[in-house]
Amino acid sequence: MRIGHGYDVHRLVSGRKLIIGGVEISYEKGLLGHSDADVLVHAIMDSILGALALGDIGKLFPDTCKEYENANSLILLSQVIDLTEKNGFEIGNIDSTVIAQAPKLSPHIQKMRENIARVCRTDISNISVKATTEEKLGFTGELLGISAHAVCILKNKI
Ligand code: ZN
Repeated sequence: MRIGHGYDVHRLVSGRKLIIGGVEISYEKGLLGHSDADVLVHAIMDSILGALALGDIGKLFPDTCKEYENANSLILLSQVIDLTEKNGFEIGNIDSTVIAQAPKLSPHIQKMRENIARVCRTDISNISVKATTEEKLGFTGELLGISAHAVCILKNKI
């Protein structure tokens, strides 16, 4: 078994779609980034790459690369899963937390889990997504950005 950890932050700005866990959430602001800025999927990819000791998404998908402009992060995740399988591993389980003061994420959690499980080629029972606030403290509390943490276990592919 291999364990990995990932962390990501994106700034909240006007004029961008808010996409978290592959779900487009209606809100007055969205996350700024080179790709679709899906902070949760980015943290998950970094946890998987960490478990494989293969660096991070910045190394795999450089933001200087035109190909990744506004890229759907779920497609990037499927490439990380390809890499995982090529290295002889599969997802054991993933646990993650999105930290956002607003909007309310609980109505979208199930769909996020479904999206991530499908792309990770695993059962939804292996994918945990939680949401919390930081009680109006810090950059997430002041609505300046959204962050996400993820940990994963990879197991040998049978
Ligand atoms: Zn990111």
